Amino acid sequence: DTMKILVATEKPFAKKAVDGIRGIVENAGYELALLEKYTDKSQLLEAVADVDALIIRSDKVTAEVIAAAKNLKIVVRAGAGYDNVDLEAASARGIVVMNTPGQNSNAVAELALAMMIYMSRNRFTPGTGTEIQGKTLGIHAYGNVGKLVGRKGKALGMNVVAYDPFITDEAVFAADGVKKVASVEELYKVSDFLSLHIPATEQTKGSIGYDLLMSMPKGATLVNTARKEVIDEAGVVRALTEREDLKYITDIAAGNQAELDEKFCKRVFATAKKMGAETAEANINAGLAAASQIVDFLKNGNTRFQVNK
Ligand code: NAD
Repeated sequence: DTMKILVATEKPFAKKAVDGIRGIVENAGYELALLEKYTDKSQLLEAVADVDALIIRSDKVTAEVIAAAKNLKIVVRAGAGYDNVDLEAASARGIVVMNTPGQNSNAVAELALAMMIYMSRNRFTPGTGTEIQGKTLGIHAYGNVGKLVGRKGKALGMNVVAYDPFITDEAVFAADGVKKVASVEELYKVSDFLSLHIPATEQTKGSIGYDLLMSMPKGATLVNTARKEVIDEAGVVRALTEREDLKYITDIAAGNQAELDEKFCKRVFATAKKMGAETAEANINAGLAAASQIVDFLKNGNTRFQVNK
């Protein structure tokens, strides 16, 4: 019996991604099944009945779906967030759940740079702006996204500094021509642009607020493509009120976005809907990575990207 891999997507992948996934699956000697634009849960329940592996996007893999998938061994969420998968139900059956980290990093990094230029040029309204060349770009967390923002910032002629307490190998920064600073305080103090790339954790939640913003150089801009939870919203309001030169742009509307927009007009901006990872390329990369990870798991037992260990 050949292994069967189902791609179940309410919002389908681009054709190019599906073709690529098919290539990877069939090259491995497996069979590909496709369930796209399904409108009822019952269609998903039926489709998973005999599959060994499942690729999804934002599709909900509930305990009911898992119970209906008698042969299921692995679920891969093509993308970063996996809160749409019932991990407990999967773990109880010994089903491996993975995501595809890093596949959307370039999309997010490009958005962060675009946001810097957008704010420097008065949100594309008339008037004299400033340039980002020659300015200091601070990268808060040098992971998949932060690294790419650092390299792109260098290419645009910025001085790039970074802070990431979990990266102890100095060579990681040196290889990109990026200066590592020793503390968060030092980072904000020198950054004309501060690009946030920390995950939302117990340690980081609400950690970016008044004191850090107030320490930034004149005319500084905070760019948030990370998570809204890491911001101390009241602190940001206070800092923007006291310092009329500060700017804040975010890909994740703040809980108090209406207040920000009203009080600070052109000094703040939030995208209408989170769009950091929304590129054709990121979607294709994530789909292909999902297929490769499934093949590598079924053939070699590789569980590198497992999230329910
Ligand atoms: P990553 O896991 O590759 O990197 C995160 C980095 O943060 C790591 O290098 C880690 O050492 C560092 N870190 C952890 N805790 C820290 C702390 N307390 N202080 C400083 N550094 C700390 O993640 P990534 O792919 O670079 O993504 C970063 C974040 O961006 C994600 O957590 C996610 O919330 C967000 N994100 C947003 C979008 C979007 O659509 N806007 C898309 C993808 C990711």
